[in-house]
Amino acid sequence: MTLPSLFVQRMQAFLGPEEFAAFHRALQQRPVVGLRVNTLKISPTDFLRKVDWTLEPVPWCPEGFYLRSEDVRPGKHPYHAAGLYYLQDPSAMAPAALLDPQPGEWVLDLAAAPGGKTTHLAARMQNQGLLVANDVQPRRLRELAHNLDRWGATHTVVTQALPGRLARFFGPVFHRVLVDAPCSGEGMFRKDPKARSTWSPSLVQRCAQMQRGILKAAAHLVRPGGYLLYSTCTFAPEEDEGVIARFLDEHPEFEVVPVPHVPGFSPGRPDWLQPPGPETLRHAVRLWPHQVEGEGHFLVLLRRREGPEPEPARTPRRRAVPAEALRFYRAFVKETLTEDPVPQERLALFGAHLYALPPDAPDLKGLPVIRWGWWLGTVKKGRFEPSHALALALHPQQAKEVVAYPPDHPHLRTFFAGGAWSSPGPEGWVLVLVEDHPVGWAKRVQGRLKSRAPRWLRRWE
Ligand code: SAM
Repeated sequence: MTLPSLFVQRMQAFLGPEEFAAFHRALQQRPVVGLRVNTLKISPTDFLRKVDWTLEPVPWCPEGFYLRSEDVRPGKHPYHAAGLYYLQDPSAMAPAALLDPQPGEWVLDLAAAPGGKTTHLAARMQNQGLLVANDVQPRRLRELAHNLDRWGATHTVVTQALPGRLARFFGPVFHRVLVDAPCSGEGMFRKDPKARSTWSPSLVQRCAQMQRGILKAAAHLVRPGGYLLYSTCTFAPEEDEGVIARFLDEHPEFEVVPVPHVPGFSPGRPDWLQPPGPETLRHAVRLWPHQVEGEGHFLVLLRRREGPEPEPARTPRRRAVPAEALRFYRAFVKETLTEDPVPQERLALFGAHLYALPPDAPDLKGLPVIRWGWWLGTVKKGRFEPSHALALALHPQQAKEVVAYPPDHPHLRTFFAGGAWSSPGPEGWVLVLVEDHPVGWAKRVQGRLKSRAPRWLRRWE
C-alpha cells in the first residue's frame, strides 16, 4: 500500500523512526472485522450461543466483537438483515461507549450518517428518551434511515440541517452530544484507498476549519452538566488536539473529562501542537493501529460545567391524525397484530406517512426532518401499508401471522430477492422471521406469500 509521501514525512516527524516503523508495519496488515451486537434485540451472550463463528471481545465495548472466522460473510447473513448486529470497525465502537448515553436522556448525533454510532447510541438508550441523528448529505441520510429501520430504533428523529441551524432551533437541551466529525480520514488509509488518494495537507487545514464550525454549534446544544464527545478518524493533531485546544480557549464553560483507561488506548498529544496545547488534552484518547486491533481514531470527552437549567424545549401542538387515515391503520392493526404497538396519542401523520413520535418529542416544525420517530407505514389508495421499520421493531408475538425459517432456508432467499413462494394460510400481512427475529413483511394471497422486502434490502442476498 502506498501512502502519500507528505503524510509519511509528517508521521515520521511526530512518531520518531522506531514507532513510525511499527505504525507503518501495522498499516500493511489486513484490517480486522468488527461486529457490534444489537442489544435492543438480543444479548451478547445469546448471540454468541446462536452463531458458531469465532468471536473475541473488543476490550472497550462489551457488545463489540472481533470476527475471526474467515468463511463467514456477515454482511450477507439473514441475522444482519434482521438487525442483530452492525458491522463496525472496533475503534469506531469507542465513541458511543465512552459517551455512555442513558435510557430516557436527550442525545444528539450531529454528524450521524451512515449510522454506525447512532445505532450504538440507540441501543445503549434502549429506545427510551430522544435521539436526534443529523447529517447533511442526502445519500448518506438515506443509508442512515435504512440502518435505523433495520436496527429497530423507535425513538430516533433524523434531521438534515447544518449544525448552526440545529443550535438556533433547539438551544442547550441535550444531555449528550456526539460530534463524529468529517475529517481527513488518515485513520482509514488501510481500509479506504479513496482516503489515501484525496489526502493533502490543505485537506487537513480545511477539515480543521470545518470542525471548529461544527463544534462551535455543538457547544450551544449541550445542557449545563451535559457531555460532548468529539471524535475523528484521523491522526492529524491540527484536527484533533488543535481543534479542541482552540475550543477550550473559546468555551471556558467546558472541561476535559478523563475516561477510564483501557489497555492499548494512548493519550492525546498536546505537545504536537505549535505552541503546545493544554496538558488536560492528555486525557484525550488516541487509537493507533499498531497499539490496538482497529483503525485510527481520536476522541475526547468534554463536560459543560453546571449552570442554570435551560428553557424547556417547545412541546408540539399535536394535530390529531385524520379520521380516515386512523381508520385504515386501525383496520390493519386489527387484522395483523395482536395488540396496538403504540398509544394513540403518539400517532402523527406527515404527508401519507404515519409515525409513532418519541414520547417526549419536542415540536420540530421548521426543521428539515427525514424521520419523525418510528415510521409505522403509509396510507395509500384507501388502505394502510406497513413499513419495513414497523416489522423490524415488532416482537414476533405482536403479529397474528408469522412464518419462521432457519437462516439457510430457500424461502428466506426468495424473500430477500423480492420473490413469492407457496404458503397456505389466512390472507393478509405475514411477518417473516429468521428463527425468532423479524426480517420484514410478506403478503399472502391465495396460498402464496409475496415478499415485501424493500429494494434497499435486496442487496443483502
Ligand atoms: N458517525 C458516522 C458513523 O458512525 O457512521 C460517521 C460520520 S462521518 C465521520 C462524518 C459525517 O459528517 C458525514 O456523514 C458527512 O456527511 C457529515 N458532515 C459533513 N459536513 C457536515 C456538517 N457541516 N454538519 C454535519 N455533518 C456534516
